[in-house]
Amino acid sequence: MKLRLHSVNPFGIKYVNLFGNNYFTSVKIKGEIMSTKRTDYLAWDEYFMGIALLSAQRSKDPSTQVGACIVNGDKRIVGTGYNGFPRGCSDDEFPWAREGDFGDTKYPFVSHAELNAVLNATTPLTGCTIYVALFPCNECAKVVIQAGITEVVYLSDKYGTTPSVQASKRMFEAAGVATRQLTLTKDSVTISFIAEENK
Ligand SMILES: [Zn+2]
Repeated sequence: MKLRLHSVNPFGIKYVNLFGNNYFTSVKIKGEIMSTKRTDYLAWDEYFMGIALLSAQRSKDPSTQVGACIVNGDKRIVGTGYNGFPRGCSDDEFPWAREGDFGDTKYPFVSHAELNAVLNATTPLTGCTIYVALFPCNECAKVVIQAGITEVVYLSDKYGTTPSVQASKRMFEAAGVATRQLTLTKDSVTISFIAEENK
């Protein structure tokens, strides 16, 4: 028997998960307890890309916020990162500009999400998958390959025709790193920080 959540709502026990979605694990109908599974839970790809996108929210970059999430073969998250200046290089003192003399722009200073995720990793990354919103640039592609990561999962290939990304693709192909563009059925996930008792 397939139950639609809205129809069993008054009889069920309401839970709210980390992402603010309501769900019910125990439903009482005609005196009997029935267990049902949520149907709108996050798929693994959505979860890991979601972690990458959440990490991107830490970025201070006013124009581009990128996050990355590295996952091992047991589907454990072993590294996350976002684009930002290296430790000790103040976000208030170093430039965020995209244009001007090289030394007055962010480019010589900013450390990309993929590099930070690799450097933040808690384990060796051989055979891991990296989730990143934007297809990696050539500098990050080198890092990904040298770290032993064997799959890149991305959302956007916005800069796919640039020499940098073309170089990335050439290196990934030569090194046997698989790339996969995600097409997700969900447009967004809502996260609420409001405590249950205040809803
Ligand atoms: Zn990069």
